[in-house]
Amino acid sequence: MSFRFLHHQGVADGPRLGTLVTPHGEVSTPTFMPVATRGMVRGPWPDRLRPMGVEMMLANSFHLAARPGVETVQKLGGLHKIMAWDGPVLMDSGGFQAFSLAAISKVTDDGVKIAHPVHGAMVDWTPKVAFDVQAALAPDVAMLLDECPADPRDRISVALAVRRTLLWARMQRDMHEARGGASSGQAQFGIVQGGVFEDLRGECARGLVAMDFDGYAIGGVSVGEGHEAMMDGVRHSTQLLPVDKARYLMGVGTPLDLVESVARGIDMFDCVYPTRSGRFGTVLTDEGPYHLHNAKFAADPRPLVPGCDCDACLTGVPRGILRAGLKSHEFLPPSLLAHHNLHYLIHLMKRIRLAIADGSFEELRAAINFAYRRVEPPQL
Ligand SMILES: [Zn+2]
Repeated sequence: MSFRFLHHQGVADGPRLGTLVTPHGEVSTPTFMPVATRGMVRGPWPDRLRPMGVEMMLANSFHLAARPGVETVQKLGGLHKIMAWDGPVLMDSGGFQAFSLAAISKVTDDGVKIAHPVHGAMVDWTPKVAFDVQAALAPDVAMLLDECPADPRDRISVALAVRRTLLWARMQRDMHEARGGASSGQAQFGIVQGGVFEDLRGECARGLVAMDFDGYAIGGVSVGEGHEAMMDGVRHSTQLLPVDKARYLMGVGTPLDLVESVARGIDMFDCVYPTRSGRFGTVLTDEGPYHLHNAKFAADPRPLVPGCDCDACLTGVPRGILRAGLKSHEFLPPSLLAHHNLHYLIHLMKRIRLAIADGSFEELRAAINFAYRRVEPPQL
């Protein structure tokens, strides 16, 4: 895999255009990857993703290894076959799952002991296991197993997480090189931890850059620290990352987070936000989000967003009946809302790329700020 620039301002932390070149095709950046944790996006059908403009997908090694299992994925025809997707795939390593399942996991220098999501017994998820699972499942980009600290403001635990993240990074980089490095066909991204602390972000970024990864992710953000602290974390990290390697902000985000992170030099994103918020009744629009549960939509005959050319809006199903269906736990409304929201974000990334190219990015950034900064993201 390689990353080449089409356009950037020659600075470490400005908006930039690029192309990721992977064994399964090219990806225009900045890009947003839909989350298919278990090989499936929650809502949209797989054959609608490419027409929507999706160029790269995310799957999760920990969950796929738990069920159906690596051997079963291979028997079923492999990762791309089970996803019904022939384009590039990036695979998360399970570090965030250890964080999100912190109540049932324990981290030591050897790795993570974590409750198996299917049968509940404690299993070892070590840097070697994470590496081997990703080598076997064969995504285009493998993420390192890292430690995502539970509280990004707790300096002691963040410093420990940085030390472990670098220790595990060295181990996994050595395994990657022993497997042939770039000639294995798989790219490997390091993950910068460091919470809200500029010096710890710097220590982690410098340590990873010295190991020369194919790209760099910024992890441990969007975990409750707030938008401004998150943007500080992004800025502290991107300033220290090489200009000629892809940068990926994990688990982000909302339209506001996306434009503000692109403004700080991020190339890649993933998040469950569009599909999850849709399933809970939030609809993304250029005027900001609205909540379909609101009683004022009960007899609204309009589609979700008049003029939107996504498959969900083109069905013409009225807001009023989608609202009623949501309240009655019908399957169709969550699926249509998730589809529209994902389409909205994928289309937003395309608009961002065009705006960077024609010099109008700041206007688009201001419009998204106007629409989305005046409202708090809905609690999910
Ligand atoms: Zn739509």
